[in-house]
Amino acid sequence: MKTAEENKLSKKVGIYGKEFGGQYIPETLMTELEKVEKAFKECKTDEKFQAQLHDLLINYANRPSLLYYAKNMTKDLGGAKIYLKREDLNHTGAHKINNVIGQALLAKKLGKKRLIAETGAGQHGVATATIAALMGMESEIFMGKKDTERQRLNVYRMELLGAKVHPVTTGSMVLKDAVNATLQEWASRSEDTYYVMGSAVGPYPFPAIVKYFQSVISKEAKEQLQEKEHKLPDMVVACVGGGSNAIGSFANFIDDPSVQLVGVEAAGKGVDTDQTAATIERGSEGIFHGMKSLFLQNNDGQIDKVYSISAGLDYPGVGPEHAALAEMKRAQYVGITDDEAVDAFEYIAKEEGIVAAIESCHAVAYVRKIAPKMRKDQIIICTLSGRGDKDVASIAKYRGVQIDD
Ligand SMILES: *Cc1c(COP(=O)(O)O)cnc(C)c1O
Repeated sequence: MKTAEENKLSKKVGIYGKEFGGQYIPETLMTELEKVEKAFKECKTDEKFQAQLHDLLINYANRPSLLYYAKNMTKDLGGAKIYLKREDLNHTGAHKINNVIGQALLAKKLGKKRLIAETGAGQHGVATATIAALMGMESEIFMGKKDTERQRLNVYRMELLGAKVHPVTTGSMVLKDAVNATLQEWASRSEDTYYVMGSAVGPYPFPAIVKYFQSVISKEAKEQLQEKEHKLPDMVVACVGGGSNAIGSFANFIDDPSVQLVGVEAAGKGVDTDQTAATIERGSEGIFHGMKSLFLQNNDGQIDKVYSISAGLDYPGVGPEHAALAEMKRAQYVGITDDEAVDAFEYIAKEEGIVAAIESCHAVAYVRKIAPKMRKDQIIICTLSGRGDKDVASIAKYRGVQIDD
């Protein structure tokens, strides 16, 4: 057992900015997190681990992803040159595979054979089930009961991949409740189980682990742009749910002060309405899901219901490093509404022939606003976090077109 003093100290581990991050979790998970942290530190210099990671990223996930020059968008918008980092071309259709490959290898290194994960719309659950199938591990996915009803196709997909899906019936039966249920499950069974955190959130070291595995996005983008343009971008834009694709897109540019970093949050019906998910713009400091960060909450510290047309962005909090980057003004965070995101969904399809995820289209919508105001010799890299096939039916519905019965 640790003394109260040691516990206070251990909360200082993994602090971002003045005080975001930390480890606000039950004592039972403390030792487990320490083991995870130790394995994580080791894996960075473990040659066998790095070789396996590299092999899976290339031969399974289809990396490196393209850095595509969006000629039509650039011409149409008439300002900065636009490059798209194509995470939509990865196996399973989004950036999430980068993270689950890394964490599944970490779980193996720790001797675990059972993966558990939370999922909202099902994207992270599908990615986790995918990697579990590949590596011959068990996977159990916790999903709010409401979400299991809304996303029946993804529930079936996870089961097809061999996962067991647990509908969570506590709280409002959505993503935040699924995270709580997964943390609880991990606390009660950690001997053989690893929690694959789905975004750059949760208690330390998860925000650092997820950033590390997603940093491949900006590592590649920086090299690819160097090759094509022989310079740094002027701006990097990515959408922010919990913040994993954004922190991965920012990571290798944070120390380049000339590169502007922009995170795009889902404003839903508008940042000034209560149907929003713009955590950094509208939220306040709090402690939830094992971390201190910014959350959408009421005056009593109750986590608010969040809303966005994009299921992948409606998380009531944000990763602690984003809260810190916002606080120190190293990155800027802006809100994009449902309407603007849907317009961008249609725009990028027609201009570039790319059906991009509605989450990613929040970033595209911001690029549409900012690119015309920039000079033609300036460069924007915009991360397309995922493909939009999953969104076609709901966008049609948003436009009043009924395509399924
Ligand atoms: C899950 C998801 C997101 C949001 O998650 P982050 O951790 O903020 O990256 C964004 N885009 C797509 C396509 C997703 O599947």
